[in-house]
Amino acid sequence: MKHTILYDASKQEDVAKAARLLQEGGLVGIPTETVYGLAADALNEEACRGIFQAKGRPADNPLIVHICDIKQLYTLVREVPETALRLAEQFWPGPLTIILPKAPCIPDAVSAGLDTVAVRFPSHPAAQAIIRESGLPLAAPSANLSGHPSPTTAAHVMHDLGGKIDAVLDGGPCSVGLESTVITLAADPPRLLRPGGVTLEQLRAVLGEVILDPAVMNPLAEGAAAASPGMKYKHYAPRANVILLEGGREAFLRYVNSHRQNAGALCYAGDEAELQVPAVCCGGEGDSASQAHELFDALRRLDGLGVSTVYARCPGTSGVGLAVYNRLIRAAGFEVLKLE
Ligand code: AMP
Ligand code: MG
Repeated sequence: MKHTILYDASKQEDVAKAARLLQEGGLVGIPTETVYGLAADALNEEACRGIFQAKGRPADNPLIVHICDIKQLYTLVREVPETALRLAEQFWPGPLTIILPKAPCIPDAVSAGLDTVAVRFPSHPAAQAIIRESGLPLAAPSANLSGHPSPTTAAHVMHDLGGKIDAVLDGGPCSVGLESTVITLAADPPRLLRPGGVTLEQLRAVLGEVILDPAVMNPLAEGAAAASPGMKYKHYAPRANVILLEGGREAFLRYVNSHRQNAGALCYAGDEAELQVPAVCCGGEGDSASQAHELFDALRRLDGLGVSTVYARCPGTSGVGLAVYNRLIRAAGFEVLKLE
């Protein structure tokens, strides 16, 4: 067991110590505006293998490389197309990951054997500070145990990875709360592989045609190859069996209150007073940004309800709602019940 040090992102000397650990090949949990990442030197293959080991991450699921200056992009990919520059200008720094053909310096562990690499320029000041201070591009998937909800606080990271990694840099709760939007420019037309804080509508406004990968909304057909390997795994799952209920508020309340045995609810603010089962609130109805912000903490809190089934309200799918829906439907193992 390692002793995992907790550093404070508001202290410059703590950022410097965490950066030193990364330069030495260590693993550090870092805050970003999306979720906490488990960072290592992206050009150090052995350090990157450590990420997979600490998380229990399948070796075929590639990592996102984080930068703090657009100039770094040119060192990581074979060429930077004009479409990438347009996206960067609109959405970087921010919650958008861009996939491009990789440069030879990218270790196989990072790209999981693919010939592409995913790159993001985060907006969180502490993420930028540690990338700058270390002088390294940082490979960082979400800092959770594989299969668990992604961490949106330093405490979540400690809970999952304390004792397995060198340090966690505490920069407070994440503002977006869901992982980045992932788009590949290695396909023509560009393809949205994972929805996030930057919406499909926003991407289309910049690029014109953008295809929504079928794995965003649906389970992968058996034997089919995943464009984004992360999409094929069951994710974000609390211990209870989650079932999404599609329909309005009244139908949800009626259904849950008449199926109370060993049941709990994942609902919107204001619903809990009318529910006769233990409930966890996740944002406001019709307010996708608040749902995104609270979803992963809510999924973790469901484990404290001590119930075997959780009925969840089905979110709308426009704007950031598409990302909330994409994560929830995976937490539910694609189990959706349409209410009359
Ligand atoms: P995480 O950082 O844990 O949110 O996971 C990164 C996500 O980006 C996973 O779903 C990966 O499958 C996806 N990803 C990373 N690199 C690539 C790539 N080169 N091609 C396709 N998907 C990728
Ligand atoms: Mg993840």
